[in-house]
Amino acid sequence: MAVPKKKTSKRKSKTRRAANMKVKPIMLTKCPKCGEPKKAHVVCSFCGYYKGKKVLDIESKLDKKLKKEKKQEAEDK
Ligand SMILES: [Zn+2]
Repeated sequence: MAVPKKKTSKRKSKTRRAANMKVKPIMLTKCPKCGEPKKAHVVCSFCGYYKGKKVLDIESKLDKKLKKEKKQEAEDK
């Protein structure tokens, strides 16, 4: 049976493990609907479209956000 000749140093094993933990860059594509950069295979967060269909109702979400902000402003005053 093959036996390692020397103990692997901490440095060596750590660098070996670190090589597999590399963070991949996020792949961005252009949205065909609005042209904004978006992640591939993910619903566009600017217009809410995916594969030419409307999936998310972004406008209503924005309205809710604005209402929340206004409420908070009113509470602050
Ligand atoms: Zn879009």
